[in-house]
Amino acid sequence: MFAQFALHERLLKAVAELKFTEPTPVQLAAIPPALEGRDLRVVAQTGSGKTAAFVLPLLNRLMGPARPRADIRALILLPTRELAQQTLKEVERFAQFTFIKAALVTGGEDFKVQAAMMRKIDILIGTPGRLIEHANAGNLPLEEVEVLVFDEADRMLDMGFAEDAQRLAEACGPHQTLLFSATTGGNGLREMVAKVLKDPQHLMLNSVSQLNEGTRQQIITADHNYHKEQLVDWLLANETYDKAIVFTNTRVQADRLYGKLVAAGVKTFVLHGEKDHKDRKLAIDRL
Ligand code: AMP
Repeated sequence: MFAQFALHERLLKAVAELKFTEPTPVQLAAIPPALEGRDLRVVAQTGSGKTAAFVLPLLNRLMGPARPRADIRALILLPTRELAQQTLKEVERFAQFTFIKAALVTGGEDFKVQAAMMRKIDILIGTPGRLIEHANAGNLPLEEVEVLVFDEADRMLDMGFAEDAQRLAEACGPHQTLLFSATTGGNGLREMVAKVLKDPQHLMLNSVSQLNEGTRQQIITADHNYHKEQLVDWLLANETYDKAIVFTNTRVQADRLYGKLVAAGVKTFVLHGEKDHKDRKLAIDRL
């Protein structure tokens, strides 16, 4: 029940209107500490309901007596324009019974129009690259920002936005920071977490917590694809299993590995989007 959260009634009304009945695990874990004003570092995947997990506490914080709309009070950073657009939609859905206004600033739109719009909204949603351009042009009033969200922070770093994102964080007034990523990330993410979060609560809601107790999860580092293939050979030869599934990150790599394994006499099928229906069905049936 969403009513268990200390959310403003207008937000609960929107939640009901959207037919959300039960909070998802990430919402259960993140909403209470976020409402208390804590900094959070959350690992949760797209589809887990993570957007509502930060949007609801953020909107709740901005509720309260109406005040002249002069400054941006919340900033949500995302790695891509498409993600920013989706997040704006979600914010608008939850804010439908409030006076809170949000807008988007991403590349590809008119710079001057964006600059004028920034003084008329409460929540700014955007990609770090375009926002830094506005900051450099003196268009970005961030001093009154109370809540800063980094969504898909791991991808943001992969796309080279680390420095821009940190500069934007530094330009904000005293604020609460909520950082979400789909993976635990590498050194870059750890560094960013240390820089932008103050005494954060760490919430890990990725698949690790959903694994069976008997599941052993290991990360094995590899220097290059050839090394990786050798590691796969070794694992398939030395681990005990009835059936194995190997995921690769491209179709080309899947086909390549398939060729190698078949040549080595391993009974293998390959499954990816370029295979026709018949082959895909065969692969599943054989598994
Ligand atoms: P997200 O992980 O934030 O991209 O959310 C995935 C989808 O789940 C979105 O379409 C949300 O509107 C929907 N969703 C999020 N939380 C809930 C919930 N508690 N009940 C039903 N749908 C939800």
